[in-house]
Amino acid sequence: MMSRTVRVVLAALLLLLPAGALAQGDLTFASLNTPSNGPGRVIGGYAGGCISGAVPLPLEGAGYEVIRVSRNRYWGHVSTIRFVQEFGRQVRASRLPNVYIGDLSQPRGGRMGFGHASHQTGLDVDIWFELSPKPRLPAEAREEPVLRSLVLPHEVGIDPTVWQAGHALLLRMAAEYPGVERIFVNKWIKRHLCLTTRGDRSWLHKIVPWFGHDAHFHVRLACPADSPECVRQTPVPGGDGCGKALDDWFRPPPPQPDRVIPTPPVRPRPPRYPAACQSVLNAP
Ligand SMILES: [Zn+2]
Repeated sequence: MMSRTVRVVLAALLLLLPAGALAQGDLTFASLNTPSNGPGRVIGGYAGGCISGAVPLPLEGAGYEVIRVSRNRYWGHVSTIRFVQEFGRQVRASRLPNVYIGDLSQPRGGRMGFGHASHQTGLDVDIWFELSPKPRLPAEAREEPVLRSLVLPHEVGIDPTVWQAGHALLLRMAAEYPGVERIFVNKWIKRHLCLTTRGDRSWLHKIVPWFGHDAHFHVRLACPADSPECVRQTPVPGGDGCGKALDDWFRPPPPQPDRVIPTPPVRPRPPRYPAACQSVLNAP
């Protein structure tokens, strides 16, 4: 047991440590509040990378408003910022209410202190489905807005009282933007699009089923031409993505053995960043 005096001294010493020394590993990128200088470059992969020279998304613009501004996750590559602004203009031109924009990336990207595994390179954007008319509020008043799910509780299907045609239009507009490579949505939303989309279905292949994503969709942009160190993902398959790959999401999980053999817990490993990300961390 530690004596009270030793504990007090240890606590005092901890307070003296600079913040950077406490924020090791995963939290290092999360502890930096400003972008690095230099040209905008994406380094590494969506779930293990960083960005130099990131630019902030203006907190409001035609057709959109950024929410949860206090998280300071509205930074991205200039191509991502351009996408959101262009998407907002299309939202306005379609006479839909403004959309709420959630997390992009931290000022230098990297792993976040909480939340996503990806969003590390300034190429991911969360856009909320909430389509109720929104009064223009100051940024501080947009921390916890109402954000309804399009999927019923316990994930048993689409909620017909929330779903509207405008949601399909949002997804289509985002999918047809040239730099957008894929969009993650809940399996029920993908299935609903598969069942209801008439005419041109060529954009559907970019809509990819994923866990969660029932109240927001996640837009992922392609590696930009100015960033040779950006790690690409395998392209989404062609077609409409409405066949077996989607059906697999609705299959019941395989039966579990009666006796569960305990496995030792695996300590999560800090993400491996490309070496160039160290310079982004250390840059002024
Ligand atoms: Zn996301």
